[in-house]
Amino acid sequence: MYRTGHLGVSLLVFAPIGYLFVAAGEPLAALVTGGAMLWLAMLPDVDHRIPGISHRGVTHSLLFAALVGGVFAGAGALLADGLGTLDRVRLSTFGFFVGFVAVGAHLLGDVLTPAGVNLFWPWRREFSLYLTRADNTLANYALFALGVFAVGVAAVLAVQGVPV
Ligand SMILES: [Zn+2]
Repeated sequence: MYRTGHLGVSLLVFAPIGYLFVAAGEPLAALVTGGAMLWLAMLPDVDHRIPGISHRGVTHSLLFAALVGGVFAGAGALLADGLGTLDRVRLSTFGFFVGFVAVGAHLLGDVLTPAGVNLFWPWRREFSLYLTRADNTLANYALFALGVFAVGVAAVLAVQGVPV
């Protein structure tokens, strides 16, 4: 997928997560998750710029998603230590979730394309749903529109669910 499509898939994945966080009374968690997911939507494609590693190889794996989750878990733990008021385990678990799901959404976007993704790298097996080519302009914009729509619906539902 291209950037537009990836942002769309990230928004689509975020919509139910954001809704659940807001419904659980954690709007800040929803905001941080959404922000991180948009920020990191293209992170796995950093493999285009790193010499020596193949595109859709290691950075397009669940292992990489877990690695980024680990970095965010570490950041969460540091933040909890720094602030001293937050639950360390809770914040690092949240950090892991945010990193993992941000990369996971990118992988999902690429799984739609025929080239597929080596989800279980280093096991070389491509997973693909063969739904659309990565360079399909219509598919990219449709995914983006769908993502924006899903977040809109989730926001309306979440706001309606909030007791005033
Ligand atoms: Zn990619």
